[in-house]
Amino acid sequence: MSLPSSPPPGLCGACLNVKTVETRRGSRFYLCTLAERDPRFPRYPPLPVLRCRGFVPAGTAPEARTG
Ligand code: SF4
Repeated sequence: MSLPSSPPPGLCGACLNVKTVETRRGSRFYLCTLAERDPRFPRYPPLPVLRCRGFVPAGTAPEARTG
């Protein structure tokens, strides 16, 4: 099943700090987990995110996280 059209997530789509939330209606939201401890990051960043100082490529070891 394909999802309804939504903006591309940009960096959030490949970031270790993102948590995706899908609704029963098929909408997908990108929750920035850095927002829990750093107010500079919005909980739900406007997409697409093209530049972000908190970006950590997914697959990076957790020890390499910044913050
Ligand atoms: S740190 Fe930046 S790129 Fe990563 S999920 Fe948060 S807003 Fe998106």
